[in-house]
Amino acid sequence: MKYLVVSVLLLVIFWLWRSKRRPDSYQVNKRSDRRPPPSPALPTEIVACDVCHVHLPRSEALTGLAGVYCCVAHRRQANKG
Ligand SMILES: [Zn+2]
Repeated sequence: MKYLVVSVLLLVIFWLWRSKRRPDSYQVNKRSDRRPPPSPALPTEIVACDVCHVHLPRSEALTGLAGVYCCVAHRRQANKG
């Protein structure tokens, strides 16, 4: 009977210790689980067409001799004149 009381007491102490600890450990786990935010999309450089001054991403712009253009026609037009 004595052992039963002692074991139940130990169980209760252990349970209290665990329930008291859980929020902290949960937060720690949450903190460590937090991944770095997904890297934002790389900033796109916006350029203006030298002919019509329309703004477009550099990746879509056509590079000519004198600058960047929105389309082949404007690049041709700029190279002519
Ligand atoms: Zn243009």
